[in-house]
Amino acid sequence: MAVRYPITCPNCGHTNTKGMFCAHCGAQLAPTGQIDTGKKLPSRPFWVTLYAVLMVVIGILITVGALTYPGTGELTWILSVVVLVYFTLTAVGLWKQQNWARLSVILGMGILFAFGLLALLLISGTTVPLNRWILYAWWVGLIVTGFTVWWYIRSYQYFE
Ligand SMILES: [Zn+2]
Repeated sequence: MAVRYPITCPNCGHTNTKGMFCAHCGAQLAPTGQIDTGKKLPSRPFWVTLYAVLMVVIGILITVGALTYPGTGELTWILSVVVLVYFTLTAVGLWKQQNWARLSVILGMGILFAFGLLALLLISGTTVPLNRWILYAWWVGLIVTGFTVWWYIRSYQYFE
């Protein structure tokens, strides 16, 4: 009978998601020819394609915006390039359904969500006058980033 991933190593108990040998101890996972490697990744969901394209577009917009802003210093220039490179690399990874790109999105959007929520809580505790529309936009931003984190956490099956 064919063995399918994930395979628990018979030697050390490590859970392996790929390969013929244990990533932890090197033991052979199953008798030769017994592992079913015909596992095919589901095709890239539309949501991931859209996200990859948006990341490149937003990365370029941020860079162009920062560089054309009057009085731009060297630090802004460096940060813009870092943002553009990070966005582009993650977008390419998403396109290729790489798991590190998925984790990159979860981490980046998670940080953005946490800061957004923290800022909202801090402001709501003060008497700082806040424009109603900015507040609405803020909530929309929180919902979008929160949904993105949630979606990417549970959609691991589309990535390898
Ligand atoms: Zn092992």
